[in-house]
Amino acid sequence: RPFVAFDHVSLAYDDSGNAIEDIDLTITEGEFVAFVGPSGCGKSTFMKLCTGLHQPTAGRITVDGAPVNGPLKITGMAFQNATLLPWRTTLDNVMLPLEIVQPHRSRLRRHRKDYVEKAMGLLQTVGLDGYADSYPWQLSGGMQQRASICRALIHDPRLLMLDEPFGALDAFTREELWSVLQDLWRQQRFTVVLVTHDLREAAYLADTIYVMSKRPGRIIEQRQVPFPRPRH
Ligand code: ADP
Ligand code: ADP
Repeated sequence: RPFVAFDHVSLAYDDSGNAIEDIDLTITEGEFVAFVGPSGCGKSTFMKLCTGLHQPTAGRITVDGAPVNGPLKITGMAFQNATLLPWRTTLDNVMLPLEIVQPHRSRLRRHRKDYVEKAMGLLQTVGLDGYADSYPWQLSGGMQQRASICRALIHDPRLLMLDEPFGALDAFTREELWSVLQDLWRQQRFTVVLVTHDLREAAYLADTIYVMSKRPGRIIEQRQVPFPRPRH
């Protein structure tokens, strides 16, 4: 089932030409896709279009059959830097999107027990349940990144956007987190859009790899990752 559909989409930020040019693709529900390409090829712009943070200059984008008119609540996001709030514990950082998606304090209070349980479940999956009450500065870079992936998943997003989430980590930690992410994805089957410089990472994780060219940002190659392939 098509979940994200780009119908000949272009975007120009200014009169210097298109940052994204004529992208035409569909991402199936539950698919894991990766975008690779050099800096400045439009990967972040593509993400912002998917999540409704930018509107295309030409073409049409639909997510789950509906045109994207503004920021989508069904997405979770994680970035190269974990961007945890330093004054919140790990647990409270993970629960932050619930407060944003659901701003009614009384409702939050009423459901707090369920939400804590959910957050603790995610923290356990990534091996951080012992650090729920720690602050970001007490965690290693890899641990912070694990927490930020939990935060991206706390509100059961149907679409998970990952912008170089492991780029700042050492090779060992990075590969460990690949399997953590893969486990979460296998359990929950959300749709994933991963942006990365690391072709090996893309080949390890994604079903489909899109290669983008530098300016104007175009897709120059689309590859299905061959099956069967190692899942561990
Ligand atoms: P990537 O994420 O692959 O590094 P970006 O999507 O950030 O690429 O950028 C694609 C192109 O659009 C680049 O040429 C960049 O300079 C330009 N660009 C990105 N954001 C803006 C902006 N807000 N205003 C003008 N130009 C931008
Ligand atoms: P990661 O692989 O998550 O980046 P590290 O390799 O930095 O973690 O740390 C290895 C292990 O050391 C962690 O899994 C954790 O058990 C422990 N550790 C790291 N930082 C801390 C800390 N600030 N307090 C307690 N234990 C820590």
